[in-house]
Order: sequence, then structure tokens, then C-alpha cells
Amino acid sequence: MGRDASKCEPQAIHSFCWEGVPFVAELTESVSHLIETLTRLPGIGRKSAERIAYHLLRVPHEEALALADAIRAVKENVRHCKICYNLAEGEVCSICRDATRDKGLVCVVEQPRDLVAIEQTGLYRGLYHVLLGRLSPLDGVNPEDLTITDLVRRVREGGIREVIMATNPTVEGDGTCLYISNQLADLNVTITRLARGIAPGSVIEFANPEVLADAFSGRQRL
Ligand SMILES: [Zn+2]
Repeated sequence: MGRDASKCEPQAIHSFCWEGVPFVAELTESVSHLIETLTRLPGIGRKSAERIAYHLLRVPHEEALALADAIRAVKENVRHCKICYNLAEGEVCSICRDATRDKGLVCVVEQPRDLVAIEQTGLYRGLYHVLLGRLSPLDGVNPEDLTITDLVRRVREGGIREVIMATNPTVEGDGTCLYISNQLADLNVTITRLARGIAPGSVIEFANPEVLADAFSGRQRL
């Protein structure tokens, strides 16, 4: 038992092996910076950040850099679809490109992660429109900060028979829904809202698929 620096990975210069577990004697500037950066991620506290940082110090060079490469690829290749604002690699997302989708239906969601949750129900075969947020005047989020103008233009261009509002069942989500339905009121389109299968105060992202499926099939005309 004891510390044996000779068994450590060459790149983990600042750690010792203590019964096979690297032990960082003191935090170097780079390690501190990594931990600080990790604590800015959602759900990652100081302890978790330290565990991840030590893990990255311990794993082979290529494995740690694969994570850096994956982050770089996402930031460089992923953008918003120019039609619906879903995440896409290229100009148009895979859903807008899918010829089997019903182009007469557009489901309006706040964020791409809401779209993913709805896709997981497997019930919906129309298109989407991602607002990239919700109206929140107190936080300075106004209509021009969202993609509402593009939604109105899509509907105005024709071919859409129903807009399904799937904003979150919160005060702000409801406000956003109301604002958009007013914007679309003069256009020849049916506007529906998801039924309240989802408990008030919860968010679509975390709703279980059954509840979400219920809410979807029971959607009602506004
Ligand atoms: Zn798209």
C-alpha cells in the first residue's frame, strides 16, 4: 500500500496512484479550470465536477479528447432548421425532409427537446415549429425574440390545415399560445391545443410518454 507515481498515466502528471485510484495532490490551474467549467453544466455540482475531472485525468488521452471532439462537432455542425427551427445538420432537419410526414399539420413547441418528447410517443406524423422559447415580458422575452413571424409566414403560404399548440401548460406557455392564436386568427387554419393530460406546473420534456400521448390524442380546438 502506498503511493506509486510510476504507475500513473503519463499525462496525469499531477496525480498519484493510491490503491489504483488517482489522487490529485493539489489542483493545478488546468484542473481547477476544468472543474469550474463543469460546474456550469446543468445538474453538475462541485462533487460531480471533481469526479468527472478526475475521471478525465485517468482515462487514455484519446478517450478524453473524444469528448472534446464530440462537443466541438455539435457546436460546429448543428444549427437550426431553416423551416421549423428544430436542430439540424445541414439547412433542413430530418423531419422537414421526410416525405412521409403530413405537411398539413404543424405542432408548435417551445424547444427542440419538447419535439423529441413528442416524437417518442410515435403518435404524431406531422411537422413542427420550434419557437426557441416562450413569451416572458418580465424576463425581456418578447414576440420578436421567438420564431413567431416565421410560423405566421409558413401558415400564410398555405398548405397547413391545423396548427397544434404544444407549449408548456404554464402561465408563460399559455400566454404564448394565446398570443400565437391571435396572430393566426385571420388565417384559414384550425388551431388546437394539447389536452390537459399534463399536470399543471410540469413540463413536456419530463412528462412520461403515456401522459403525453393522452394529452396529444385529446387535443382540443381553441
Ligand atoms: Zn425542420
